[in-house]
Amino acid sequence: TLIMANSKYEYVRHFELADHMLPNTWLVVRIDGRGFHRFSQTHNFAKPNDRRAIDLMNRCAIEVMKDIKDIILAYGQSDEYSFIIPKTSNLYSRRSSKISSTIVSLFASNYVMHWTKYFGQDKLQYAPCFDSRTVCYPNDKVLRDYLSWRQADCHINNLFNTTFWALVQSGMTEDAAEKHLRGSFSKDKNEILFTQFNINYNKIEPVYRKGSTIIRQKTEVTSISPRNGEEVKRIKLIPTAIHDDIIGQEFWDVHPELLAE
Ligand code: ATP
Ligand code: ATP
Ligand code: MG
Ligand code: MG
Ligand code: MG
Ligand code: MG
Repeated sequence: TLIMANSKYEYVRHFELADHMLPNTWLVVRIDGRGFHRFSQTHNFAKPNDRRAIDLMNRCAIEVMKDIKDIILAYGQSDEYSFIIPKTSNLYSRRSSKISSTIVSLFASNYVMHWTKYFGQDKLQYAPCFDSRTVCYPNDKVLRDYLSWRQADCHINNLFNTTFWALVQSGMTEDAAEKHLRGSFSKDKNEILFTQFNINYNKIEPVYRKGSTIIRQKTEVTSISPRNGEEVKRIKLIPTAIHDDIIGQEFWDVHPELLAE
């Protein structure tokens, strides 16, 4: 940089606009797969939920959190993930595009790097792409409302998709199933699932109904001491996926450190 400083071209740097996010606010980066409706078809994702795809998304989020230590929690469902950075963080001087582009690029490269581990013989057909944005939320209530919004979205979509694909698998065309469900309420879909398909929606695995929340969990890790070859046990904070309800108060009571300054 010293060599390059003061060249006559350097004035162009001033065309870059400052994009510092407000201090003392929660930062949320949400990434979302581009055209994953098509991507999921091309790669024969199971409907309504392909477990391999969910596990791969979770793996990518875990790798992002291992790399970017400022992130305290991530919430994911479908082809999206939200990463939460605390009010006090000064990551990249809180520059919006630096933060969101670094996170989304890490996420996408991990998606490609770990594809085969989750999809085995099913080859990746083309380069997947994710978009990204940074939003700041000024207090704990709106942050929790943000996360509740995403988890409610997961619930609404999953209930719809579960019912839709049950109807299709029972012989209805996709058009007919779509029409059949248009304007229906949650209780109607629960009723269809229970009476026609003997499915109790509330007994479906939480990973599908609740999405995935990654938090840094205290985990006992064992390593071998290079000095004397003995086992050493230590407690480390390891990003781990759980599938709890995060809308209610209980989750936040169990993990008080998340909202503490
Ligand atoms: P930052 O994260 O701040 O961008 P950085 O380590 O990426 O840090 P840069 O100023 O972007 O720093 O510099 C890129 C570095 O990558 C250079 O130091 C250079 O040594 C190395 N590099 C990039 N491309 C090549 C290349 N083709 N051959 C050898 N070295 C390269
Ligand atoms: P956009 O580029 O605007 O985001 P999109 O096609 O990605 O368009 P989304 O609203 O983001 O649309 O929806 C994501 C799509 O990916 C859904 O239609 C869903 O069917 C599919 N999808 C994502 N994850 C899974 C999964 N684990 N199993 C099955 N399908 C999935
Ligand atoms: Mg989108
Ligand atoms: Mg998408
Ligand atoms: Mg999406
Ligand atoms: Mg660089």
